[in-house]
Amino acid sequence: MIKAGPTYHRKSFGLKDLVQEDLSREYESSLISSIRQNGYSLEEAGITIKLAKAFGFCWGVDRAVSMAYETRKQFPDKQIWITNEIIHNPLVNENLRQMQIKFVPQDEQERKIFTEISEGDVVILPAFGASVDEMRLLEAKNCEIVDTTCPWVSRVWNRVDKYKKSDFTAIIHGKYKHEETIATSSRSQNYLIVQDLAEAEWVCNYILQGGDKNEFLHKFKSAVSQGFDPDTHLNRLGVANQTTMLKGETESIGKLIERTMLAKYGAQKLDQHFLSPGDTICDATQERQDAMQELFSEPLDLVVVIGGYNSSNTGHLHEMAVVQNITAYHIDGPDCIVADNSIRHKLPHQTTEAIQKPFLPPEGNLTIGLSAGASTPDQVIAGVIEKIFSLRQTQPN
Ligand code: SF4
Repeated sequence: MIKAGPTYHRKSFGLKDLVQEDLSREYESSLISSIRQNGYSLEEAGITIKLAKAFGFCWGVDRAVSMAYETRKQFPDKQIWITNEIIHNPLVNENLRQMQIKFVPQDEQERKIFTEISEGDVVILPAFGASVDEMRLLEAKNCEIVDTTCPWVSRVWNRVDKYKKSDFTAIIHGKYKHEETIATSSRSQNYLIVQDLAEAEWVCNYILQGGDKNEFLHKFKSAVSQGFDPDTHLNRLGVANQTTMLKGETESIGKLIERTMLAKYGAQKLDQHFLSPGDTICDATQERQDAMQELFSEPLDLVVVIGGYNSSNTGHLHEMAVVQNITAYHIDGPDCIVADNSIRHKLPHQTTEAIQKPFLPPEGNLTIGLSAGASTPDQVIAGVIEKIFSLRQTQPN
């Protein structure tokens, strides 16, 4: 891990005043402010928008974006890179490109190509962190590193580090391809990534009843540490999570593993075989999920969730609506809604988009629940609301 030093920056440069005007102009919205003041509701031409009470930019994202803008001011003449999208939002990432901040290129297998980074360049690490290997590589290149990793993510890393030191295997509830989970697993000695409760149940079955080791290794081939042996590495387990997973599911996985280890080793020896995840799911994710749940107490005709298609927490908000059997669309911005009354949206658990036409009934009263993931700026949400109203040929005040 990189140690604090003059070329490693973990905090703001103290230039917030210099970038605040740009941040406000590019991301804030007076329409959203007025909806907040109006009890999170707006009605126009028969359409009522019900906005979730917690939505959009979270503290960690706000901090990361601000640090990136400050980095440009701090190093006006240097080449600046970002190892990945700073957050999962196309508008923010495009704005950074406009500021001549480059994204580390990737090859066809989505491996990052670091050769273009020169000694002394500035490299920003995104809110969801970077892997240990990447950090070592950048340190070896004597790069100026601006680390915007969210403190909530660092909290999970501390947990995983504890497991490593105690020789426990980290069971990580996350998506093995997600950058945050890659960064978290890189800090583990032995790990297994499960993406949902069903996979955790499969693993627990193996722990209690045994099974075919080859089948296990094939099933989790992209989701285990090198040299992982399910017959020896599932004896001492600690649970960790990608901070943006569904909290209820992480808790269920934790309880399931605890029950499994209890059944196998007994209460007397449980603490030698199981460590709980502690409180590692971030407040922002939880607040947005709770606010989404609260929205469902309203009679909604449909739900629109806004956020980057690769934003995990946005995807989960969408899934929550789908589970409620409410017609729900995950879109990444206003351009997804077209004047011919169609909507282009991402299907749950898929990478493809679909088009729904008609999107809105041409007349009659309609209540639309609206929420946005933690990487979605207010201005994008306002753009979506304006587009929705424009379909009824009116604009909000
Ligand atoms: S969603 Fe949570 S973990 Fe992710 S950046 Fe925001 S506050 Fe941090």
